[in-house]
Amino acid sequence: MTRSETLFDQAQQTIPGGVNSPVRAFKGVGGTPLFIDSADGAYLFDVDGNRYIDYVGSWGPMILGHNHDSIRNAVIEAAHKGLSFGAPTAAEVEMAELICKLLPSVEQVRMVNSGTEATMSALRLARGFTGRDKFIKFEGCYHGHADCLLVKAGSGMLTFGEPTSPGVPADFAKHTLTADYNKLDSVKALFEAYPGEIGAIILEPVAGNMNCIPPVPGFLEGLRELCDQHGALLIIDEVMTGFRVALDGAHGHYGIKPDLVCLGKVIGGGMPVGAFGGRADVMAHLAPNGPVYQAGTLSGNPVAMAAGLAQLEVLQQPGLYEELAAKTRKLAEGIQAQAKAAGVPIAINVVGGMFGLFFSDEAQITTFEQVSRCNMEQFKAFFHGMLEEGVNLAPSAFEAGFLSMAHSDEDIEATIAAAGRVLAKIAA
Ligand code: PLP
Repeated sequence: MTRSETLFDQAQQTIPGGVNSPVRAFKGVGGTPLFIDSADGAYLFDVDGNRYIDYVGSWGPMILGHNHDSIRNAVIEAAHKGLSFGAPTAAEVEMAELICKLLPSVEQVRMVNSGTEATMSALRLARGFTGRDKFIKFEGCYHGHADCLLVKAGSGMLTFGEPTSPGVPADFAKHTLTADYNKLDSVKALFEAYPGEIGAIILEPVAGNMNCIPPVPGFLEGLRELCDQHGALLIIDEVMTGFRVALDGAHGHYGIKPDLVCLGKVIGGGMPVGAFGGRADVMAHLAPNGPVYQAGTLSGNPVAMAAGLAQLEVLQQPGLYEELAAKTRKLAEGIQAQAKAAGVPIAINVVGGMFGLFFSDEAQITTFEQVSRCNMEQFKAFFHGMLEEGVNLAPSAFEAGFLSMAHSDEDIEATIAAAGRVLAKIAA
């Protein structure tokens, strides 16, 4: 038995399913998850001493690569001063000012501890502001695990084949209306069916929890118009895409002005951090200035702020996002060429530092329906083949992949070559 297998057996005695977040358990692909000992740059090292080129990046935050010097040093320096004060700090002000400067749609921002808290709180605020309970989300979009958002969600929920979780009372989910991603008509129909009742639309500007689906031209613009027409707020959930797709977020990249934005992952540099912010008149409804309650013992934690600030500082280097996007395109084009050579039909979507591989013979994947039709058996074989080759991909066909600035040309070329060998075996 490997040390990972031993630890997984042991973990299952005291941790449900042996993991602290479901997708880590490899249920979508079978087998034993790797237990990680350390990580550096583009690499993960497991407890058995194996090295993997990593395209999960802790599910998005590690955009500069693992164990980045300036983030580690900032964390150590902050930790020397104390781990938590439960009182305001200068670092929180610096973080808020930086987010407001980099994301022009954000005039005020509140820090929280996870993406789930960010979306849950933004939605409460939108409902409180508009006085309307109903909101629209899209099938296949995941916004964390708050009750009313766990309806037809993506990612781990899809891997487990549970569109809505038991334990979410029907009464809590009844105000959640679901529409089809990239299909504006499905949204229009909901506004027509519930006139004056819908307070918000929440969406991932690039859907990253049903693999990786960019918005089709006109989709985000159309949502903005519908919100304006019907007095609803547009909440753009950038927990995954924020500072990953571009320095001004996916909404900046696509030129859309949301009312509220949710952030997480990258802004924490690997520490547990989330945030939500947006229009000052909407944020004014939040406690302590307004009546909509929201709070957190560890929110704005000084060590977490130090990590996030250090990461955001590096991310402002000119040309960084262009370089990250070029690396991602190089990987995608390389794998696509190998797939063609092997005769295995795959489609690939790329946006900034995010990518999605689809085992499908459809040239362009733009809808959840198409993702559901992909060849899951081929994905599983590809995943395990790549792992054997020393390449770590997300253990689910419904997750986007992430590159980091630490991935070198050699890492990318080695990954492409490995993909060629694995795809040839799949074709055989
Ligand atoms: N929103 C999006 C778009 C996400 O991808 C995720 C997590 O993957 C969340 C919200 C929830 O964030 P967290 O896992 O930090 O609670």
